[in-house]
Amino acid sequence: MKKAEIQSLKEKVLAGGEISFEQAVELIQLQSQDEIQTLLESADEITRRFNSNEPGLCSLLNAKSYLCGEDCGVCAQSVRFDPSADRYGLMHPEKIVEAAKRAEKNGAQNWQNQAENLL
Ligand code: SF4
Repeated sequence: MKKAEIQSLKEKVLAGGEISFEQAVELIQLQSQDEIQTLLESADEITRRFNSNEPGLCSLLNAKSYLCGEDCGVCAQSVRFDPSADRYGLMHPEKIVEAAKRAEKNGAQNWQNQAENLL
């Protein structure tokens, strides 16, 4: 794929379009340093156009601590492990929503859809 083609794809995406699966495959197979540099610059421009420069804040709540019946070997929540952390079952949905509202008040974003689905 030539530099001009990469730039053409960039313009298409900047205009709100999408690239095809086949075009994406071509992009990940670029070999020339010049073309890869063009791809990186294009990706940077697209990212800066569609994403804010502001960080997004989020908050995590451990709604259930330990006591998971599954056995995922890397997870300390598994009932097979004996962590020193507090252990408690799934929090009541209203407590989770309260925590989400507190997190939002403190600057976390996008809690509402997830929290309301619990009720
Ligand atoms: S990752 Fe942890 S919490 Fe999730 S299912 Fe596995 S053991 Fe349970």
